[in-house]
Amino acid sequence: MERQTVHRAIGELETLQSAILRLKVDNFSQRKSKDQFIREHKNLDNLCDKNKYVVHNIKKQKNLTLNIQLRISISNLRVNINVPNRRFLLCRVISRFIKIDALLALVEDPEGNVERLALYNWTKIPEEGQSNTKSIDESFLPIGTLLVIKNISYKFATGNIPIIRSDNPDDVIIVDHNNTLFNDIKWSTSTNEKDIEIKNVDDFRRRGNDYFASNHYISAIDEYTEGIELESRNVTLLSNRAEAYLRLGQFYNALEDAKFALTLDPNNIKAAYRKGKALCGLKYYKEASNTLQILNKRIKGNNTLIKQITEHAEMLFYENKNGKYDYLRIIDEFYERAKVKKDSKGNDVWIYEDGPRLDHADFLNENIKIDLIEGKGRGWIAKCDIPELTLLMVSKPLKLVFSNEAHGTMISDESNDEIPTGAYSCSEELAICIAHKLFAEPHYCREVYQLYTGLNISINEKIEKINKRLVNIVIILHAIKYNSFGLGYEEFNLETELTGAGLWILPSFFNHACIDENVNHFFLGDLMFFRTNRPISKGEELIVNYRDASFSYKERSRYLKAVSIDCQCRMCKLERSESQEIKLRMAKLLTTYNESIEPKLKSRKVYPSLIKQLEDTIAELRNLRKEHPDLGFNTIVLSKTLAHTYRKNGNKEKALSILKETYDLYKAVRPKDIRHIILNIIYLSLELKLVEEAKKWFDILLKNIVEPIMGKLKDDKPEWRKEALLLAEKILPEVAEISNNVRSEQ
Ligand SMILES: [Zn+2]
Repeated sequence: MERQTVHRAIGELETLQSAILRLKVDNFSQRKSKDQFIREHKNLDNLCDKNKYVVHNIKKQKNLTLNIQLRISISNLRVNINVPNRRFLLCRVISRFIKIDALLALVEDPEGNVERLALYNWTKIPEEGQSNTKSIDESFLPIGTLLVIKNISYKFATGNIPIIRSDNPDDVIIVDHNNTLFNDIKWSTSTNEKDIEIKNVDDFRRRGNDYFASNHYISAIDEYTEGIELESRNVTLLSNRAEAYLRLGQFYNALEDAKFALTLDPNNIKAAYRKGKALCGLKYYKEASNTLQILNKRIKGNNTLIKQITEHAEMLFYENKNGKYDYLRIIDEFYERAKVKKDSKGNDVWIYEDGPRLDHADFLNENIKIDLIEGKGRGWIAKCDIPELTLLMVSKPLKLVFSNEAHGTMISDESNDEIPTGAYSCSEELAICIAHKLFAEPHYCREVYQLYTGLNISINEKIEKINKRLVNIVIILHAIKYNSFGLGYEEFNLETELTGAGLWILPSFFNHACIDENVNHFFLGDLMFFRTNRPISKGEELIVNYRDASFSYKERSRYLKAVSIDCQCRMCKLERSESQEIKLRMAKLLTTYNESIEPKLKSRKVYPSLIKQLEDTIAELRNLRKEHPDLGFNTIVLSKTLAHTYRKNGNKEKALSILKETYDLYKAVRPKDIRHIILNIIYLSLELKLVEEAKKWFDILLKNIVEPIMGKLKDDKPEWRKEALLLAEKILPEVAEISNNVRSEQ
């Protein structure tokens, strides 16, 4: 489990362009109607600042020779399939060009197919005295301009939005209208804007519903909005638009529509239901539960759907208020929803629509608060004494991107192979998703802008940006750099390995230490749980681990430097103070173990001299850190091997005592590493017929697995073991077998 960093500066404009495209363009790959294309493009146009950019002026080419046989039609383009570079696209501009990162417009081919076109590298911010440039306005590549474009590619612009892309302005030829080369080509439609047919409210509702039915929620919202502009108090349109917003996860917008619809028609059941759902999404659990309970009473519980959502809202309210979660159920839900299947292109996609995003409530323990910590900025501290294994926080992310969801973006950089590609694209996708979210619902600007960004922005500037609801891409990218977490599910028994990156707001305020952290965190789906791992005193800072001490000092320092952390933990201090000589000796001992001791131990017969060598290695490694005996945990694996070797040679008592000694030394600092030591102690105890001993250690194992997740087990009550077993088996399947073995020995 580690905190994620963005390892390169993501293009700010690229992120912005992707976010804006997703905001206004339905994310579905099937071909759309020309009308839909044009409306989406108009909405994009309204968002873009036309005065900001200029483009190079270009000249029309009069003497053009082309082999018309090599023309390619839009309908023959396939996403990500290369277009042979001798082929060209002949197209006609049918919308204004707008500029975000690329120049974007709609084009049509002679067959009447419409697609988006992105012209890259045409533009630059004006420099002084530059004359060969021109603003984007009506006169720039106006509607009706004929273009011949060579070397095109057809790609996903972002998400599933395909686009024809040209990277080199020299590949774009503006065809003079007097050019006779294309005289024979008949264009299917006229470019004169059609007289807009006058539509009434009902037309908008019908068209909105059609789009909704085909999952085109953005287009549906556009239709409903136009209807609402004609008739602002139309309850059906408002309520329908609320549902479309819900589908897009835009809960603020959904709530506003549902509430307004209810003021107009207090008895509208659909609007009340949608209000309840929006309130759940916004984490106003109490209000959601109240709204739905009232609704449920009114319809006398006759509607299963409403009954279900009411019960769900009550559960959320309970979780949020009490910090009590049904972990068994949540783990099952997580395993079930983490299942993937292959789509037609061989990509991993979720079986359930949202994947393992779990619909459970946030929780915040009232005994902790954010405060200024000397030398660190802000951090969480305890307002009073807090017992060990207390749940402090459960948090849903503002946004989370799983590795299988981060594909199809134009952004890519494979130049740096030091960091796995998955991590890149997740952070980049996360930036796009968060920018998109803030555009759609600027209320969330406040949450993101309050985070540490490392930028020199005053509080006042931030407040101004929040008040004006300005989406600032630089702040977003920096907030992600310093605050996003990388997903990890090491402690769970998942079928598929899942990674990802997300932004959880309140957890961002936990500071880091490589060791001696007093708070453990784990992920279940998209939920992040925080629990103390020892008793905390009033006023103590609550610390988590972004990257733990099993990473080498070199790896950790590089990471910590990237996120501007000056770690003062025991491990960093020790490693900083250790002489070069000690460091080299330690590395040498570990290399010798890995390369020459460990392989020889695998042979059937192990000579006493080799055992002696291993014992000496462990002793010397520990001695090198004798001032901090518990920080010599790089010997855990060696001790386990040593015990294993003694066992193989028949000396099981010795093996057992080595394992117990290792457990005692490192149980406090490396509770997870020690789990395998406990398992081995149980196996050995059983072999030695030490039944009581085996039972005792089995209880220790159960607590080691279960308590960090569920909290302190009530081991004074007889049923605690049963409950613990149920959970432990879900996490470590071999627990069931061990449990049987321990019991059958009785
Ligand atoms: Zn440290």
